[in-house]
Amino acid sequence: MLELINIKKSYEQKPLLKNISFKVDAGKTICLLGASGSGKSTILRMIAGLEFPESGLILFNDINLAPIPPHLRDFGLVFQDYGLFPHLDIFNNVAFGLKMRNLPKEKINIRVNEMLGMVNLQGFEKRKVTELSGGEQQRVALARALAVQPRLLMFDEPLGALDRTLKEDLLNELRKILDKTKIPAIYVTHDHDEAFAIADRILLLHDGEIIRDGAPDDVWKNPNSIQAARMLGIKSPLLSGEG
Ligand code: ADP
Ligand code: MG
Repeated sequence: MLELINIKKSYEQKPLLKNISFKVDAGKTICLLGASGSGKSTILRMIAGLEFPESGLILFNDINLAPIPPHLRDFGLVFQDYGLFPHLDIFNNVAFGLKMRNLPKEKINIRVNEMLGMVNLQGFEKRKVTELSGGEQQRVALARALAVQPRLLMFDEPLGALDRTLKEDLLNELRKILDKTKIPAIYVTHDHDEAFAIADRILLLHDGEIIRDGAPDDVWKNPNSIQAARMLGIKSPLLSGEG
């Protein structure tokens, strides 16, 4: 499926990403965990085609994505700030990508209904974006991303603005939706609890490199470095005195 090979990226002569390689397998959710400023969003923007690596390759099904513009990549993005269109009602927010693809009206109605059902917002079609809570807006953003059946979903700290209980509920629902739709996903966060709740595989991004890549259980049991353990919030006596 998606594969990044030796990606490098600098801003203003400062290396941000030194050598990033990883794969996302069919139907799997990987979680990229890293501190704020570590380059997580930059990685997603490069995959989306909004930014370019200095060197390295990004492949999807073995095809180089470099010449493919963002709108032809068929990837969905969900951001922390939802990115909904405030002048459109909920129906038209979810229908947006379908209309862009010129689907017949009937098909659009069916699909929007289905998606609103999936995110538990049946009956919200006529509501305004401003009448919705943060959690509801993020559900709409998810429905909009899912509606066009993307080949890959990317989540950039999507729950960052929500409180803890709501976060947990939405994470559980998202986990179910990803299992059901089997769309491969990359979930980016700086919150290790979130990472463990959602990921089939966890990747730790530190100092421009992936310092650990593995199943949540393995990563938790064997962080393999003090830095990785710290990033996971592991408080081990072995680490005492390390800050
Ligand atoms: P994260 O999402 O992990 O918080 P980002 O990928 O947003 O990290 O950014 C990482 C670093 O790269 C930040 O220090 C940011 O200032 C810098 N950066 C990101 N985009 C640009 C840009 N277009 N020009 C210059 N610096 C940038
Ligand atoms: Mg970011």
